[in-house]
Amino acid sequence: MKFNSREMRSLAKREKYLVAEHEIGHAYGLGHEALTCRNPGPSVMKQGTVKFGCHSDGPWYDDVQGVLAKY
Ligand SMILES: [Zn+2]
Repeated sequence: MKFNSREMRSLAKREKYLVAEHEIGHAYGLGHEALTCRNPGPSVMKQGTVKFGCHSDGPWYDDVQGVLAKY
């Protein structure tokens, strides 16, 4: 997996991990989620930067359940 350094340059290390987890989620076949940080819980598959403000680190419950449902 290769990332666009121009897009990633300004991100903190944790944010880069979340972007990587998002792209790996696509590799597992997951689509985008509309979940928020609160109920029902965050997802690395949410588009944009909102997930950067969620507590702890991903992958989160919904992400794990999504992969388990596929495999
Ligand atoms: Zn995506």
